[in-house]
Amino acid sequence: MNPNAKISDEAFASYLEKVRALAEGPFEQMQKEVERTNKFPAEFFDLARENDLYRFALPSEYGGWDLSELEILKVQEEFSRGPGGMRMHLHYAADLNWRILDEYGCEELKTEFMPKFQDKSVFTCFALTEQTGGTGADVHSTAIKQPDGSYLLNGEKWLISHTDCSQYAYVIAVTNPDDDKDTRLSAFFVPMDAPGFELVDMPHMMGCRGAGHAGLKFTNVRLDPKYLLGKEGQGMEIAIHSLSISRVHIAASNLGMCQRMLEMSIARANDRITFGKPISTRQAIRMKIADMATATHALRCMVYDFAKDFDADPHNDYVDEKAAMCKLFSIDAVRRVSDEMLEIFGGDGYFEDSPYGPTERLYRDCRALWLEEGAPPVQRVTIARECLRHGGRLAYLD
Ligand SMILES: Cc1cc2nc3c(=O)[nH]c(=O)nc-3n(C[C@H](O)[C@H](O)[C@H](O)COP(=O)(O)OP(=O)(O)OC[C@H]3O[C@@H](n4cnc5c(N)ncnc54)[C@H](O)[C@@H]3O)c2cc1C
Repeated sequence: MNPNAKISDEAFASYLEKVRALAEGPFEQMQKEVERTNKFPAEFFDLARENDLYRFALPSEYGGWDLSELEILKVQEEFSRGPGGMRMHLHYAADLNWRILDEYGCEELKTEFMPKFQDKSVFTCFALTEQTGGTGADVHSTAIKQPDGSYLLNGEKWLISHTDCSQYAYVIAVTNPDDDKDTRLSAFFVPMDAPGFELVDMPHMMGCRGAGHAGLKFTNVRLDPKYLLGKEGQGMEIAIHSLSISRVHIAASNLGMCQRMLEMSIARANDRITFGKPISTRQAIRMKIADMATATHALRCMVYDFAKDFDADPHNDYVDEKAAMCKLFSIDAVRRVSDEMLEIFGGDGYFEDSPYGPTERLYRDCRALWLEEGAPPVQRVTIARECLRHGGRLAYLD
């Protein structure tokens, strides 16, 4: 499949099976407690480490397997069949966690930290959203350059995932207040134990329990210039490029959930007898299954198409647009599939502990993906901008 990978095709195929079994087995068992505590047990991190879930997406120079983007997204699809909070953690671990430092960190930081992602000796969170601002460029936190070259960080961030297991935060802040939106912002790698860095508690979420959400508060956090990522003024570009790829991981997450909900719905429809016949023989149910299968297949085609182009050229001209399309379409796909699943299951689907799988939890978990990494209007803005640029003619690189 991929001649450069440090794992054979056969070993990769069994790895996919192992990840699915882990997500639907031990992870799902642990999640029953996590739903109440909103905290992952140490056993979850240990199992993720032992099963190479912090390593598989890394380049081999950092202990990884040199997988293609297509292969990485296939692993993402498998672990996304399990609990949503764990999916969120592993999704982040496979992408933004290490990719931002790899692409934009200075050599000193990369030498120190890049080898530490493979076994979670270091973990990060990504902090763009603010309570006081809007999505994307409307950032109010500031990092003002001091005469000695350091930066003084002040402000806040909100809705930030993975704060309970991270030592560093990627923070987007204003360094050049008088510039336009393209160069006002810069990105920093911020030590979370720096004086003036605080976590602010947040309430429990609808789903995806355990993913460590909190607000961040910065009061005169002093940052050595080495913590600047890329160049001053490059923050918006770093955020947009990094989120683009991650949006396809959101689509692959929705794909994993769609596929599982489809399989669960078919199993239930075959078993459930009403008026003397399995409901799977009724046309009303068959129409639903057809729509669920079509949405799932179309989503898989879009995700795989993105991955093939990305593998051909990670900076190709259509990355932002196709990633936004994948995410936007995946929300509609998972909405339709989860709605139809609930109808096929009837009243039992609204309860916990279905023998077919976690119907009510999947229904709640998938709704976080509406918002993670930008609500649908933000995806549409990106798609429309790019369509207007090239007149609506998408290229396919393969
Ligand atoms: C589970 C979860 C995990 C998250 N993790 C992180 C994280 O780790 N790091 C991080 O930085 N953020 C994180 N977020 C935040 C997430 O990225 C935002 O919630 C999302 O981008 C929407 O922004 P908002 O909540 O500020 O909504 P708002 O900006 O208040 O938007 C509300 C609605 O109005 C629309 N809207 C807003 N402004 C405009 C406009 N100008 N024109 C048209 N429509 C507009 C939006 O599209 C949306 O539909 C997370 C959110 C969730 C739910």
